[in-house]
Amino acid sequence: MIALSLAEIAEIVGGQSYDIPDPAAIVSGPVVIDSREVKQGSLFVAFTGERVDGHDYAQRAVEAGAAVVLAARPVGVPAIVVDDVVAALGALARTVVGRLGTTVVALTGSAGKTSTKDLIAQLLERKGPTVYPAGNLNNEIGLPLTALRATEETRHLVLEMGARYIGDICYLTGLVPPRIGLVLNVGTAHIGEFGGREQIAKAKGEMVESLPEDGLAVLNADDPLVRAMTSRTKARVLLFGEAADADVRGENVRLTADGRPAFRLHTPTGCSDVTMRLYGEHHVSNALAAAAVAHELGLSADEIAEALSEAGTLSRWRMEVTERPDGVTFVNDAYNANPESMRAALRALAAMGKGRRTWAVLGQMAELGDASLTEHDAVGRLAVRLNVSKLVAVGGREASWLQLGAYNEGSWGEESVHVSDAQAAVDLLRSELRPGDVVLVKASRSVGLEQVVMALLDNA
Ligand code: ATP
Ligand code: MG
Repeated sequence: MIALSLAEIAEIVGGQSYDIPDPAAIVSGPVVIDSREVKQGSLFVAFTGERVDGHDYAQRAVEAGAAVVLAARPVGVPAIVVDDVVAALGALARTVVGRLGTTVVALTGSAGKTSTKDLIAQLLERKGPTVYPAGNLNNEIGLPLTALRATEETRHLVLEMGARYIGDICYLTGLVPPRIGLVLNVGTAHIGEFGGREQIAKAKGEMVESLPEDGLAVLNADDPLVRAMTSRTKARVLLFGEAADADVRGENVRLTADGRPAFRLHTPTGCSDVTMRLYGEHHVSNALAAAAVAHELGLSADEIAEALSEAGTLSRWRMEVTERPDGVTFVNDAYNANPESMRAALRALAAMGKGRRTWAVLGQMAELGDASLTEHDAVGRLAVRLNVSKLVAVGGREASWLQLGAYNEGSWGEESVHVSDAQAAVDLLRSELRPGDVVLVKASRSVGLEQVVMALLDNA
């Protein structure tokens, strides 16, 4: 964070100072919410969570070097006290980023935000220091915490914005207004809560509505609901995708023999070939989105193609490929799942596993509302159509629908099984896996299926 005095911070957040001997003292360290991450000069933010109350750690944070605590009540150590700690953290981020000349890039979408954020960061790092969230910090707390890591040296700030409800993106863009706003796709993630795709599009579109006239909206030409957002923004629009009229376009999109996406990249200034290190054809769309942002910020087609071809995963459990010493390959995509990403992951498995035995170890996709039965059924069917050798559906009712889909598509034998939990899946796989097998593991976050991969990697 840029250096600020305690008095300045109190003024920015409209807080009361308590137990502060020297208001001119400077906060120079990172802004943190975990007292174990405090460094000399930190600002420690005390949240009252469901299980833990940060206020209980205020003393410890100051002992570890924190200059001050941002809190909802006096805590007996130097503190700036506000009514609403989340709002205060947001106000601080807004002011600090507003003082910097950093280019803010924000992205949203139903699937692929974190993956694309990592690609954008790896591209923009080539042009100058880039701050971006570690992992998935995309809400009203994670976003300001990330933004506050920016300093005078930061050239680009890349922010992921998640939405559960109408108004969420509007709030986040209000905290740190982007100059470049990207919408990846409108899928079915959280459709149960939103009540339909149109509503999801409405929520995601808040991104482009927030952009200034001299800003840039980067929109997916291949997704009709995203393309339609063109009419909702004052900003210039850059389209990406495989559509013929996309400004940043992927041509001759294919999977290589080992299942990696490859394509010819066209930007308004040139073209160049890309073969990605990342697995899964869904990364083509993510890569084109990242390329559009990078083009806008001055990278040539060759530079973009080179960076995309070298880019690896920065965030865990997203198509993370690990080969066990005995030759079993695991594709850990257990971070999360929705119908689109399930299909993409299954197609990647089919491509990677050509000539090998393939396993799809799948759990439920949460939050699908009324669409849940048909979506699980469709995934089970697709596994059969792609000739996945074995489907292991893990969990309760939704998992049984996965298996039902496979059954309906004609898989009546041992090719599809339903087990009750992750441990049962581990037991089954432990006895059945053979060298050369490829195993995809994927489900919604709440299922925690990464345990399966971890257990099987531990005990080769
Ligand atoms: P969250 O809403 O949890 O923050 P996210 O939008 O950040 O998710 P990622 O974490 O990048 O998305 O990926 C989530 C899942 O979606 C992963 O399983 C990944 O393989 C898959 N995925 C990534 N990109 C796409 C895409 N463009 N289309 C469909 N699925 C995708
Ligand atoms: Mg994410």
